[in-house]
Amino acid sequence: MTVIFAKRAYLAAGWAENLRLEIKNGRITRLTPDAVAQLGDTCVDTLLPALANLHSHAFQRAMAGMTEYRQAGRDSFWTWRDLMYRFTARLNPVHIQAIAAQVYVEMQEAGYASVGEFHYLHHQPNGQPYDRLCELSDRIMAAAAETGIGLSHLPVLYSYAGVGEKPLEAGQRRFGNDVDRFCELVAQARGALGNLPDDCRVGIAPHSLRATCPRDLAQVVASQSSGPIHIHIAEQPREVEEVQAGLGARPVEWLLDNAPVESNWCLIHATHMTDEETCAMARSKAVAGLCPVTEANLGDGPFNGPVYLNAGGAFGVGSDSNVLISMTEELRTLEYSQRLRDLSRNVMVVGEGSAGQTLYRGAAIGGAQALGRNAGQITEGMLADLVAIDSQAPALCALQPHQLLDGLVFAAKDNVVTDLWSAGRHQVQNGHHVLRDKVTRNYKGAISELLAEL
Ligand code: ZN
Repeated sequence: MTVIFAKRAYLAAGWAENLRLEIKNGRITRLTPDAVAQLGDTCVDTLLPALANLHSHAFQRAMAGMTEYRQAGRDSFWTWRDLMYRFTARLNPVHIQAIAAQVYVEMQEAGYASVGEFHYLHHQPNGQPYDRLCELSDRIMAAAAETGIGLSHLPVLYSYAGVGEKPLEAGQRRFGNDVDRFCELVAQARGALGNLPDDCRVGIAPHSLRATCPRDLAQVVASQSSGPIHIHIAEQPREVEEVQAGLGARPVEWLLDNAPVESNWCLIHATHMTDEETCAMARSKAVAGLCPVTEANLGDGPFNGPVYLNAGGAFGVGSDSNVLISMTEELRTLEYSQRLRDLSRNVMVVGEGSAGQTLYRGAAIGGAQALGRNAGQITEGMLADLVAIDSQAPALCALQPHQLLDGLVFAAKDNVVTDLWSAGRHQVQNGHHVLRDKVTRNYKGAISELLAEL
């Protein structure tokens, strides 16, 4: 049994002082406020439920910073995607594992206990499957096992280059499966779950309405009896136009009318929605998977936040392209995108209240829901996904406890994180992941090999 003693902790019911928290088999088994630290307790300053990072394409971390150069008339989301395709053509399984491990270390040091890996690199560069169909899923799982992050692995069904069953382009061959081979891949990945701690799981991710078709989508969704279902939706205006032209409705509108969307679904981005779509999505109980840093980087546009929150919608955040892995930056970019559009402050709050607390608490609960994790709050029975921050750091030391989440979201960097537990696994200690040096050495080795081949 592990025991954490925290000077203060943000429990489901609110702030508590001098908390002893007991963990058994990865779960919180007992909470004792107003306690005294005992010998052997791990002592921390301020304990919070750790966030889930609900959307990641780990391999893209290695191309961060490579696409920020303006070419006359040619910089857009779609030229970014072209570079990504060229880059992926060179990645081998060893590179992919090394990059994912580095990404998971950075995520945990930033305060994320778990990750939804939206995994679409499946095959060899020429499109041939590896001898073992789920070879690259194995590599993602190995990176998660090594670093201790709580993985919800989401193999992606990617079959077409565009609405109307357009055949895949050369750069997309590594992603492609039909429904039968995809179901086989998912079954293999589920079979490999035994190599991971039991908080990890496998869901599915039909890539988008562009890369699937109505028939395939219905078939894979029906094949999934439980577990998370994630899909990219309405990220770019061009995507909205394509879906409208091909399927006769806007993407979110079409999905809600044609798929059994409920609380195990996560709609990634959902950027371009009418108010009607926004309210309907909130009512569906699906989670909005917001990726504010990537959405800003790609010029996607801001989420329809106030309408969605007023309608009671659930949300979480993800680092998506991993151009920057920062939990605090993700949350503040979400709020700032709303402020810049609405010329107003504290927009992501319904009625009265703290913006930092609303964002943090909402993302903790919604993120856990999206990953199918029994987590997101500090309460008995839930997974011990926990993060400790230092309230005496210069960025926070002037604040009262009730202002700490505002300070964390708007005034601090991730370096206020001192400790992190993923389902009770104490992976970050004194601000460093316990395997950081080894993982980073492997990462740098993989990168120099990759660059030599470019
Ligand atoms: Zn994505």
